[in-house]
Amino acid sequence: MRIELVEGDITEQQVDVVVNAANSSLLGGGGVDGAIHRRGGPEILTECRALRAGHYGKGLKTGEAVATTAGRLPARWVVHTVGPVWSGDEDRSALLAACHRNCLHVAADLGAHTVAFPAISTGIYRWPVESAAEIALEAVLSTLSTGSCSVELVRFVLFGTAAYDVFREQADALGVGGDSV
Ligand code: ADP
Repeated sequence: MRIELVEGDITEQQVDVVVNAANSSLLGGGGVDGAIHRRGGPEILTECRALRAGHYGKGLKTGEAVATTAGRLPARWVVHTVGPVWSGDEDRSALLAACHRNCLHVAADLGAHTVAFPAISTGIYRWPVESAAEIALEAVLSTLSTGSCSVELVRFVLFGTAAYDVFREQADALGVGGDSV
């Protein structure tokens, strides 16, 4: 199992699963969500609408994850998850960790071996990147090391050098994370 950090655009990743930092409506939004739907084409939204018409009538809860096609993206599937909105009053770290864990479990159920994550919650949801990086890296590390997860490679795709540098620092502190590719 390997954890990689790269600076780049998650929609360009050639992996089995691209994780989307969605919102609970599953019907699209800004940031990564907007980029994935734009680049992946309408098939993704069609499947999201079908999910809303079925089991996810009330939307996807924070911390949960669900898969759709990746449409025209180079990936095979998009796994949508809803990160917690940052709160200074309440510790929502467990929900952010759950996003990562549940995405990996959904990916493993699909038979995926390679998964790309964005920095969930660090955009519109305002989670400080340093804290998000620590939670994300620890959650992925602990999920992959349980042995019950068939995912072999997790790549964090960071938008811009600032986010990359913060993830790099946290990864170094935890002793994980190969070179960028
Ligand atoms: P959230 O609502 O969970 O905060 P956002 O999509 O607003 O999600 O932002 C999450 C992170 O993804 C931010 O750090 C943002 O800079 C980054 N981001 C935005 N577009 C892309 C992209 N195309 N590829 C990778 N990361 C991206």
